[in-house]
Amino acid sequence: MAKQEDQFKKVLSHAKEYGYVFQSSEIYDGLSAVYDYAQNGVELKKNIREYWWKAMVQMHENIVGIDASILMHPTTWKASGHVDAFNDPLIDNKDSKKRYRADVLVEDFREKINEKIQKDITKAKKRFGDAFNEEEFRATNQNVLRRQKQIDEITVELTRVQEESDLAGFKQLIEDLGINCPVSGSKNWTEVKQFNLMFGTQIGASAESSTQVYLRPETAQGIFVNFLNVQKTGRMKIPFGIAQTGKAFRNEIVARQFIFRMREFEQMEMQFFVKPGTQKQWYDSWKETRLKWHLSLGMGAENYRFHDHDKLAHYADAAADIEFNFPFGFKELEGIHSRTDFDLKAHEEYSGKKLQYFDHEENKSYVPYVVETSIGLDRMFLAVFSKALQEEALDNGTSRTVLKLPAVLAPYKAAIFPLVKKDGLPEVAKQIVADLKWDFNVFYDEKDAVGKRYRRQDAAGTPFCITVDHDSLEDQSVTIRHRDTMEQKRVAIADLKDIIKAEVDVKTWLQKMEA
Ligand code: ATP
Repeated sequence: MAKQEDQFKKVLSHAKEYGYVFQSSEIYDGLSAVYDYAQNGVELKKNIREYWWKAMVQMHENIVGIDASILMHPTTWKASGHVDAFNDPLIDNKDSKKRYRADVLVEDFREKINEKIQKDITKAKKRFGDAFNEEEFRATNQNVLRRQKQIDEITVELTRVQEESDLAGFKQLIEDLGINCPVSGSKNWTEVKQFNLMFGTQIGASAESSTQVYLRPETAQGIFVNFLNVQKTGRMKIPFGIAQTGKAFRNEIVARQFIFRMREFEQMEMQFFVKPGTQKQWYDSWKETRLKWHLSLGMGAENYRFHDHDKLAHYADAAADIEFNFPFGFKELEGIHSRTDFDLKAHEEYSGKKLQYFDHEENKSYVPYVVETSIGLDRMFLAVFSKALQEEALDNGTSRTVLKLPAVLAPYKAAIFPLVKKDGLPEVAKQIVADLKWDFNVFYDEKDAVGKRYRRQDAAGTPFCITVDHDSLEDQSVTIRHRDTMEQKRVAIADLKDIIKAEVDVKTWLQKMEA
């Protein structure tokens, strides 16, 4: 745990020091759970967005994009269920005055029991070696059985209090489990209350004529209300998808995990409209496709897992999360939801407009079913950034900090250095920058010794460093150094573009999805 916390602290300070993420309005001591992307961060974020957009829109003939507005007609949120049901249960500890999400307190408690089971399994594995059979151990070991029973009982009761909105029962559950406040250590809890997560604001000049509107809490509804416009004007045939990236806002109760849980964040969502009855097949297929997208970035299959939901949202008939191994453990990175025809039907009802598709093959109209894939761009940023940040021991006994970002996502693809600031070397280096910048984001640096410049680019995540020296003037070649292997090679200036392209080209990376 301590190791995880240390790694998370390193992520936070590195993100600031290397110009990736700043706290919003830092000079005023910041605004809780709101962050700004800095000069490198904005490039990484843009590259992740593009990598997603290319995979989802450009590579699929039957998926198109839109960019809907953040403010929508307020009835949208009545129809979607957000006005009535987009709530989180909150509870305060009277001694520490800290606020928690009641469901998260219970889930964390349950996860601790699970961790104990995992510990027992790891111990037994060591003891029995190859002869160890995990299934048998789980089925017979008394400690594991007792703990698993406790987990199951918690899950049943947690699902019940959530489904029935039984707030008194929620508090009772927290008390029965003896959960105490991580800050004060006390069990002195307030009642559990429901808290709506939407940010409201007003449209219109005067108080009398103004209308209450909301900052959208998800981008999906902008797609649903445009479903028929896109289908008709794009002459789309089912199955087809509409993709969108954009800001969403949630007044999160607990916001203490950097850009993992923000009050203003960005989503990348795709709603896929299918014939009723085929949703299960599409749900399975999108689960697989989305996992492949993640795996194509090479961050290790062991860092992803599916979590199928026991408790389904009011609109879903199946739902799963792709969880990622963040510095604070496995947590939701992306959701894949089979949303049935709930949203389109609700918008039909509230708007009085038909939102149906005429299927020529079937010769009938119907409200399509929807399978959605929904990923937080900021969470994806955190996943990539935290996994990339490594402290590497070197052969000479020292170590280096290196940000091994997937090259396709790196903010700068190459840094170009003159060995010294004289003898015509800066001119050659600047000419290389001038040539390469048409194809890649590149960086020029002439300050400090070359070794120091290498270290700076390693830590900033730049895949290549290119050094111009005195020989370059004679033989039109330079030294190119690879961030991950630290290998240095002499290559012709004329070949630089192809060498860099081979490593950073989106095509090379996305094709891994087909492997
Ligand atoms: P959580 O359970 O973590 O609150 P959620 O299930 O409410 O998330 P969804 O409504 O399914 O999340 O949203 C889809 C995706 O949007 C999530 O998988 C996540 O990546 C991202 N997301 C949701 N809330 C936030 C937030 N407050 N900050 C950053 N990203 C978020």
